[in-house]
Amino acid sequence: MWFFIDYGIMNAMILNNLFDKRMKAILGDEYDEFEKALSRDKVSALRTNTLKYTEDNELHFTFSDKNVPWESNALIYTDGAPGKHPFHEAGVYYIQEPSAMAPVHYLDPKPGEKILDLCAAPGGKTTQIASRMKDEGIIVTNEIDKKRAQILSLNVERCGIKNALVTNADPAQLSEIFEGYFDRILVDAPCSGEGMFRKSDEAVNNWSIDNVMLCADRQKNILDEAVKMLAPGGRLVYSTCTFAPEEDEEAALYLLQKGLIPVKTEPFPGMIHGNTGYLKRVEETYDNNERFKNVVCDDDKSQKVEECSIRLFPHLIDGEGHFLCAFEKEGDIELNKGLYGTNGRIKAVSQNELKIFAEFARDVFADDKNNIEVSSDKSEKGIVTFLGDKLKGTLFMFGDHLYLAPVGMPGLGGLKVMRPGLHLGTIKKDRFEPSHALALFLKKEDVKRERYTRGPLIP
Ligand code: SAM
Repeated sequence: MWFFIDYGIMNAMILNNLFDKRMKAILGDEYDEFEKALSRDKVSALRTNTLKYTEDNELHFTFSDKNVPWESNALIYTDGAPGKHPFHEAGVYYIQEPSAMAPVHYLDPKPGEKILDLCAAPGGKTTQIASRMKDEGIIVTNEIDKKRAQILSLNVERCGIKNALVTNADPAQLSEIFEGYFDRILVDAPCSGEGMFRKSDEAVNNWSIDNVMLCADRQKNILDEAVKMLAPGGRLVYSTCTFAPEEDEEAALYLLQKGLIPVKTEPFPGMIHGNTGYLKRVEETYDNNERFKNVVCDDDKSQKVEECSIRLFPHLIDGEGHFLCAFEKEGDIELNKGLYGTNGRIKAVSQNELKIFAEFARDVFADDKNNIEVSSDKSEKGIVTFLGDKLKGTLFMFGDHLYLAPVGMPGLGGLKVMRPGLHLGTIKKDRFEPSHALALFLKKEDVKRERYTRGPLIP
C-alpha cells in the first residue's frame, strides 16, 4: 500500500508543538478560533492604484461586499483572476491582502513629503504610499536583495510612479547618505512570517524558533539605521507579518528604549493593541531558557508599547495577520521642509539631447502639453516642466538613458540605484525611443494618438 505525504502538512505538524504552544500562550481561550481561521481560505484583495485607476476601468471580478476599513481603495474579491488581467499589467491595481494594507494607514504619508520604504520588495506598501503621495514629494524605496529589487523596480514602473528612487542597498549604506533626512519611514521588516502560514507552505517550512530569534536580531539592526535616517519630528512605522512577540512587541520596546516617542494608535474594529504580556507568557513556555530575561519591562513602558502598537489576527479581521507600531522622533518636522541634498553623480542633459527629446514631445504629446519649459528662475535653476505641469524636475542622463529626477532628489553617491526617477527613454543617435515606464505613466489625454484593443490600454 502506498502513502502519499504532503510535506507542507507534515512540516506544519512537526512545528505545531512549539508554534501551537506559543500561540496558546499568546491567545489563551481564543486559540481555537485562531486555529479554525488558519484552516479557512485566505482572504484575497486588490487595491486600486489611484495614480491610474479611473471609473472607466470596469473590474469584472466577483467582489465581497465587505470593505477594508483602513484602506478605502481596497476591494476583497472572492472569484476571478485579477493577476492575469491586462489591467494588472497596466498598473490599474495591486494585489495585496487586507492586513498588509494597515501599516501605511498608520504611516499616514502625505503629498510633498520625503518618505523611505526601507524593506520594500515586492512593493505592495511602496505603491500604496505612492498613491497617497499623489506624485508629489520623493519616495526612496529600497530592497537589499538584488533580484527582489528588480521586481520592486518593475512594480514601480507598472504602477506609473514618477517620484520614486529605487535603491538596492544595505540599510547601513543608506544611513550614511540620508542621516536625519526622511519625514516618514516604513520598516516592513523581514520576519518569521507566521502570518503567511495560510498563504504559503514555504513560510511554514522555514519556521523555527532559531529563525524567530535571528529575525528579531536582524530587525534591531535595521531599526538602528532607520532611526538615524528619521528627521526630527518624523514618523517611523515598524511592521511585520508575524505573531512572534520577540519580533513585535520587543522591537517596539527597543524603539522606545532608543528614545523615540510612541504615537497613540487608534485600532479599527477587529484590530487589538499589542501586549507586552505576550513576551512573558511565551517565555514561560520554555524550560531553562534565559533568552528572554531582558524583556521584562515596567508598567509605564508596557503601557506605551501597547498604546502605539496594533495586532491583526486572522480570527478577528478579514486578513492574514500583521503587527505594527508607530513612533516619532522628538523635534519639529517643519524645519525639514525644503532640505534636500544635491546630486553629484547626475550627468546633465546636453542641449542636443534636450532638442531630441523636445522633438519627440512635439510629435507625441497632446498639442496643449507638448511644450518643454526650462526654468530661468534662479531658485529653480535647470528645472524643466512639461506635459502641462504634470512632470517637473531635472532631466539627466545615465549612459544613453534619459531620466527625470523629482524636484529636490538627494545625492546618490556610491549607492546602487535601480531606478533614479522616471525613466523617459533612450537617446539613440538623433532620435528618442520612449520607455515602457513613460508609456505606463501617460494617460490617454496626455497623447495625440492612442490605441485600443479590448478597452483602453492606457487607463
Ligand atoms: N514591504 C514589502 C511589501 O509590502 O511588498 C514586503 C517586505 S518583506 C516583509 C521584507 C523585505 O526585507 C524582503 O524583501 C527582504 O529581502 C528584505 N530584507 C531582508 N534582509 C534585510 C536587511 N538586512 N535589511 C533590509 N531589508 C532586508
